[in-house]
Amino acid sequence: MKHSISRKLLKNYILMFFISTLLVFISYSLLLLADGIMSKKLVSQIYTAEALMVDDYNKIQVEEVLKHKGSVQVVTKDLEVVNLGGNPAVKDKKLTLKQWSDFLTNAKDKNNQYNYSIEYNESKNFWLIVTFPVSLRIYFGIVTNEEIISTDFHRVILTLVTIILIYIIMLVISTLIYSKISAVNFVEPLRALCRGTQRLAQGNYKERLELHLTAEFAELEENFNDLSRELEIQTKLKEESENLRRRMILDVSHDLKNPLVSILGYSELCLQENLSSHKQKKYMEIIHNNSIRANELITYLFELSRIDSPDFKLSLEKIDICEFVREKISDVIPLLEDAKFLWEFNIPETEIITKIDVKQMGRVFFNLLTNAIKYNAAGTVITVTIRKEMDKVLIIVADNGIGIEQSLEKDIFNPFVRADKSRNSKTGGSGLGLTIVKKIIEAHKGTITLIAGEGKGCEFQIFLPI
Ligand code: ADP
Repeated sequence: MKHSISRKLLKNYILMFFISTLLVFISYSLLLLADGIMSKKLVSQIYTAEALMVDDYNKIQVEEVLKHKGSVQVVTKDLEVVNLGGNPAVKDKKLTLKQWSDFLTNAKDKNNQYNYSIEYNESKNFWLIVTFPVSLRIYFGIVTNEEIISTDFHRVILTLVTIILIYIIMLVISTLIYSKISAVNFVEPLRALCRGTQRLAQGNYKERLELHLTAEFAELEENFNDLSRELEIQTKLKEESENLRRRMILDVSHDLKNPLVSILGYSELCLQENLSSHKQKKYMEIIHNNSIRANELITYLFELSRIDSPDFKLSLEKIDICEFVREKISDVIPLLEDAKFLWEFNIPETEIITKIDVKQMGRVFFNLLTNAIKYNAAGTVITVTIRKEMDKVLIIVADNGIGIEQSLEKDIFNPFVRADKSRNSKTGGSGLGLTIVKKIIEAHKGTITLIAGEGKGCEFQIFLPI
């Protein structure tokens, strides 16, 4: 992979080099073209010494030259300088032959900040100098004499070829280095990412990358870490649900086995011929009670799997939760009276509208209230409180009974968890009631928590969205 990427980058750089070289030539040609077009329009090319030349230099038209910040001078055959206007190019009044020949030589220098146009009038023997300040001059040219090959020609060509070769070698080396550096920048993070994904594919979901990459690679690194984090969570959840499933099968078989063994044993006894009617009645009662217990367990299990199934849907209706809870309480008042319980309700008179499935939510309150009755002694006080909390409604179902040990605060909502560890509870609970309650509350996008403590009673706090 490393090779292919660096080769690809190298190809790109070479292509880029050719494109940029081509662009340089194109731009240079355009500049030359522009220079050619422009030069015809420049004042220095219009008002040349040749164009202005007349035999009587006093009659030379200097106005246009002066208007364009130029100057006009005449140098006579005695090398005397006559200024016809403008800032003079030659400052002296009289020149020596050396000064005049130096001026003529320097006048053609491309670095001059002035354009000099010089013309000699043969009939009147004077030179006319027209000077303009340079606006901008760009020049580059190759000049060669095709007729006579100079002795320096080979030396010049050799130097030129050497320079071009050095340039190409430098270019190749720098391109190679640059493409290598870039390849390393690309390849190393990609390799690290590849190693990471390989380990992930092998099931190592704890794998995280800490490469501190930049740009898109940083995003890729972050996405990779998110992916492995998510996979780790999902695997953990899968393991947990698998454990839960295994434990549930064990618990179900255990809880079903007891009543069924009992039913089987007592029904065999009932089949005996010489059984007194008193004993038969007693055995039938035991069979009946165990059937109720087995049936209850199966009904709960059926309910639980129904709520858990993806097809389960709530039939939501807008309802005043205060009125609804009042109704549910009144349903259990006879049970509270029978059990000699005391009660206290703090339910506001104002409406608090929530969207609930009346049947399922009814089951929640019935379960919580009957649990309080089932597991606590006479004289226990049950309190139900409702209050609005921001965009939620809080419903508290509490009692001051035996309570549940604090370590079970969360687990009590798991299937088959009971506060009395013996599992032979006289109360005959299945340990599924609170699991179903929690599932129903969560289906309503709410939460339920238990504030527990042995001997401190139980407090179930339900939050429902309004
Ligand atoms: P079940 O009542 O069928 O056993 P639940 O899931 O409804 O199952 O309750 C789980 C356990 O929590 C019960 O077995 C009981 O030990 C304990 N529990 C529930 N509510 C109360 C309560 N109000 N007071 C004391 N213990 C309770």
